[in-house]
Amino acid sequence: MNYTSTRNNQVSVSSAQAIAQGISHDGGLFVPESIPHYDATVLQEMVAMSYQERAVRIFRDYLTDFTEDEIRQCVQQAYTEEKFGGANPAPLALLRNGTAAIHMLELWHGPTSAFKDMALQVLPHLLSQSIQKTCGDQTAVILVATSGDTGKAALEGFRDVPGTQIIVFYPEDGVSPMQKFQMKTQEGGNVCVCGIRGNFDDAQTGVKKIFVNPQLQQTLKEHKLFFSSANSINWGRLLPQIVYYISAYCDLMKNGEIGSDGAEVNIVVPTGNFGNILAAYYAMQMGLPVHRLICASNQNHVLTDFIRTGNYNRNRPFYTTISPSMDILISSNLERLLYHMTGGDCKQVNQYMQDLSQKGQYTVSSELLQNIQSVFYGGSCDDQATKNAIASLYKAEHYLCDTHTGVALEVYNQYIAATGDRGTPTIVVSTASPYKFAASVLDALAVEKADKDEFSMVDELASVTSAPIPAPIAQLKEKKVRFENICNKEDMESFVLQTLHLS
Ligand SMILES: *Cc1c(COP(=O)(O)O)cnc(C)c1O
Repeated sequence: MNYTSTRNNQVSVSSAQAIAQGISHDGGLFVPESIPHYDATVLQEMVAMSYQERAVRIFRDYLTDFTEDEIRQCVQQAYTEEKFGGANPAPLALLRNGTAAIHMLELWHGPTSAFKDMALQVLPHLLSQSIQKTCGDQTAVILVATSGDTGKAALEGFRDVPGTQIIVFYPEDGVSPMQKFQMKTQEGGNVCVCGIRGNFDDAQTGVKKIFVNPQLQQTLKEHKLFFSSANSINWGRLLPQIVYYISAYCDLMKNGEIGSDGAEVNIVVPTGNFGNILAAYYAMQMGLPVHRLICASNQNHVLTDFIRTGNYNRNRPFYTTISPSMDILISSNLERLLYHMTGGDCKQVNQYMQDLSQKGQYTVSSELLQNIQSVFYGGSCDDQATKNAIASLYKAEHYLCDTHTGVALEVYNQYIAATGDRGTPTIVVSTASPYKFAASVLDALAVEKADKDEFSMVDELASVTSAPIPAPIAQLKEKKVRFENICNKEDMESFVLQTLHLS
């Protein structure tokens, strides 16, 4: 199967090329030219499979230029018991919310305790294979600018993957102490991290400048190196996310929670860049029986407004919330949804994207809005409502969730109130361990936390709730700092050259 661009239907590249290249030259995102369809028999077949086998089965249909063996290797290296603390990297926890069952899909059992591991553990292997297929024995230099979570997940994913080297820049004063410590203690022979005297935008701008510097590209080429990125618009990050939706449904069939008669489920996703929920949309297009996709936003509710009115408008204040990974005003992956929902009308997509960059907004046709509303429900809540949701779930079920998942729960309750849909079994996507956001979760539970450092807050949360601390967080305290680099934003380029031994 080949991939085309959301902005130009003439483009047609292999999956290896789509993954190696990351973004299309016209600025569009790569999308599959057709979507494989799974009927009830195929889903039934997958019930008996392990998560890893399900992943291989699904990857095979999208990565047709990979051999089954290559796919198997990528999957097996990524989703190990050791890295995910169990045979199933994406387990479900059953909660009862009155009559309807809520199934928490816990996507945070990986090495960094947040859902980005689900994709970033396998992407490096897919990328490494894709590079071999498309440009021979070159080494990819992955540059990342991070505001926290993505950097650490990328470092863990690329750590010691052959044919890759990774350099992560973060704002010295713009990430949490825990996140900084996670990055500075990163292990691996091909990794490097550096703090920037500046904010996240400075780091991002610096990385972009390096990417487009032709002289630098030439220097790298002479040494069989090239720059690549691991950001969330790469198809190699989206595909692994489709797997856990289908796998969760198979697990529900296996446990007898739903029958094999094609019973529909709701899926609630705490959303930022629209990547995670878009993967659920692909799963639905592949035949997964879904009643509604519920898109949950925090106070930066640009997507809620879009789903309700058809007007996407980024001209609005930006809020810093207790669910920081959803503090986003441009949800890049939405472009793929617009492409599919207009039946592949790239002219229309171009127009919307042009309006977005020139005017900061666009409005979709009423027909497209109707299509969107027939699949998606959008809702949002502020920090206080998020905390209330965490507290009341904990009180009712003794189940602890993080702030991002708290947003999802609150919006699900809004959905029930608005639609009366109490009966449909529902999967709520849980995207981070509560221990990653211990301060806010303690706040939600109204526990006093005067002046404590991150590690004592983790211990405090554990003693109050007796929820197990994920091993990567528990072990972090013992890790040695390996990187103390700090540079000015003007010096990022020379830092890269130095790290690559090119200066
Ligand atoms: C990245 C992230 C999200 C948002 O996911 P998108 O794919 O950007 O919509 C939600 N929760 C957590 C914890 C995240 O790290």
